[in-house]
Amino acid sequence: MIKEKYVALGKKPSAIRVLFEYGKVRKQEVGEDHVFDFSIGNPNAPAPDCVKEAIIDLLNNDTSFHLHGYTSAVGDLKVREAVADYLNKTYNANTDAKLIYISCGAMPGLAAVFNCLIEKGDEVIVFAPHWPDYKVLVDQVGGTLVRVKPETVNFYPDYEDLINKINEKTRIVIINSPNNPTGAVYNEEVLTKISEIMSAKSKEYGHPIFLVSDEPYRDLIYEDYKYPYVTNFYKDSIVCYSFSKTLSLPGERIGYISVTKDCYRAYDLALAIGGSARSLGYACAPSLFQFILPKCLGQTADLNFYKENRDVLYKGLTDIGYEVIYPHGAFYLFVKALEEDDEHFSSVAKDMDLLIVPSKSFGYPGYVRVSYCVDKKTVVNGLPVFKKLYDKYKGE
Ligand code: PLP
Repeated sequence: MIKEKYVALGKKPSAIRVLFEYGKVRKQEVGEDHVFDFSIGNPNAPAPDCVKEAIIDLLNNDTSFHLHGYTSAVGDLKVREAVADYLNKTYNANTDAKLIYISCGAMPGLAAVFNCLIEKGDEVIVFAPHWPDYKVLVDQVGGTLVRVKPETVNFYPDYEDLINKINEKTRIVIINSPNNPTGAVYNEEVLTKISEIMSAKSKEYGHPIFLVSDEPYRDLIYEDYKYPYVTNFYKDSIVCYSFSKTLSLPGERIGYISVTKDCYRAYDLALAIGGSARSLGYACAPSLFQFILPKCLGQTADLNFYKENRDVLYKGLTDIGYEVIYPHGAFYLFVKALEEDDEHFSSVAKDMDLLIVPSKSFGYPGYVRVSYCVDKKTVVNGLPVFKKLYDKYKGE
């Protein structure tokens, strides 16, 4: 028998993917320059030089013949040591190589973490709006995703709602900063507040509630905003990092999971993450891309590329009359739809070949997400189409 729930999942890709696939077909029909695709978070800034240099160096000088071979299932030891050293030096993370798991990117990392911590009926809290696939991953292990609403100035969590939503079934709270889709960056005050609430609730219920920090955008922060290192605030944190966005390598599938030595049963947890990933069929992240990491830790693609896009689009859209959340990190704008039904609004835009993602599947309807990791031409030529869309609603 084929499990029907997977047939259904296969039939219904995420709203992001539906638009992305549509855009590819549409570009063939009407030409690249006539489709304004702001759908997916596929970095358009080139990977930083360190990536190419490290690959060439490895290809030319590696004599181990293991460049394309299996590494240890949880990641090459030297790579794990390099990641631990980097985290200790940069963030005082108090970790070591045994507490680092090299993942095939954030999504498989999250899947492994959820799989080893969530039992059927457990609850996982997430702050809305959120990356839609958390729901798919939590559903898969029999958990229930519970949404906490944001305050609507900075799109930080509504703490009262968090307090009310945590109960004895809560196993995990997910945070994602800088945030997809709002671009919000959680500061020390936010992390302190979340940590205080979670510590009190863990004590009340007599078991640790883990904080899972999903960090594909950690190093994509503008101006002097900072995302402090979460384990320094809450010891039972699990950091799921990815190089997909910071090094512009989403197709190469590489990231890591890290916990601190002070975490609840830290070394058992690290073993469980490795075991869990294995049970899901993930072992040995791509070896070539593991081996480049020691030379690329802390590097990013050109942040100015995204910052310029953000500034042009933010100004362009607000000048037109759109209500836009000002993002301090990641590469998305969260824009108020011009009608209540964001899916309909997105489909009206789609008819103009403007591809923007409705926010319903982000657990927070009434908005659209505009991904600005696109080439400059799409930004500049897309703005008049946003104006046309606005005029259609506002009748000017
Ligand atoms: N988490 C968030 C918040 C994302 O936006 C994405 C991708 O867009 C992922 C996880 C998945 O990242 P990866 O490519 O590392 O699996």
